[in-house]
Amino acid sequence: MKYFIAANWKMNKTIAETREFLRSIVPAVQGVTEVDIVIAPPFTCLPIAAEAMKNTHLQLSAQDVFWEEKGAYTGEISPLMLLGAGCKHVIIGHSERRQYFAEDDAIVNRKIKAAKMAGLGVIFCVGESLEEREAGKAFDVIKREIEIGLAEVNSDNLVVAYEPIWAIGTGRTATTEQAQEVHAFIRKILANLYGSKAENIRILYGGSVTPDNVDGLMACNDVNGALVGGASLKPESFAKIVCFKKEN
Ligand code: PEP
Repeated sequence: MKYFIAANWKMNKTIAETREFLRSIVPAVQGVTEVDIVIAPPFTCLPIAAEAMKNTHLQLSAQDVFWEEKGAYTGEISPLMLLGAGCKHVIIGHSERRQYFAEDDAIVNRKIKAAKMAGLGVIFCVGESLEEREAGKAFDVIKREIEIGLAEVNSDNLVVAYEPIWAIGTGRTATTEQAQEVHAFIRKILANLYGSKAENIRILYGGSVTPDNVDGLMACNDVNGALVGGASLKPESFAKIVCFKKEN
């Protein structure tokens, strides 16, 4: 299965900074053909990023989307607008959206359906908080997020990202054992939903991935890529992550 490594820039970078980043990253990852390399800049930078990524193998993603096609939804962006801006994917269900913008599983499900209907690939994020992990509820939370988030959704063009909230932006990464344990569990839930097609769904790990820990994480059986926040903001560190060394 081809690895999938995505840069989630969150609310970082102006248009000028996006141009500068892409000028560095494109030649740095030119030879990497065994990884789908995806960049998710803020909305304002999507058209310029699409332009700079034309004729490269980099793929563009948005960080969020609304579920309606158009209309009186001040501030929102539709799936068709993202397609028009050159996006191939969209991140949905990121814990920051769930936490700061009150997105629940039902909202996440509506967004996923709308994005897929329009033809966008979906990077669907799930993961437990520290409290939930310590209370022994991590697996229940992830199962609920997947079952509601993916209700009436097929497995085409779907990537799942496991992002333990306690590891996002904290410098505290899940151990390879913790990551593999949850990824295998996610694969099992996906198999309940999709049968043998679950084997082909890429499951990304996200949470303080850096050039120093990426090799071990990517060596886990059920880890098929990474969603990278902080370490994706500098072209040098993102290029090192994309060029990870395959162990075993
Ligand atoms: C993220 O927010 O998707 C993320 C994984 O962030 P970081 O790499 O900074 O932990």
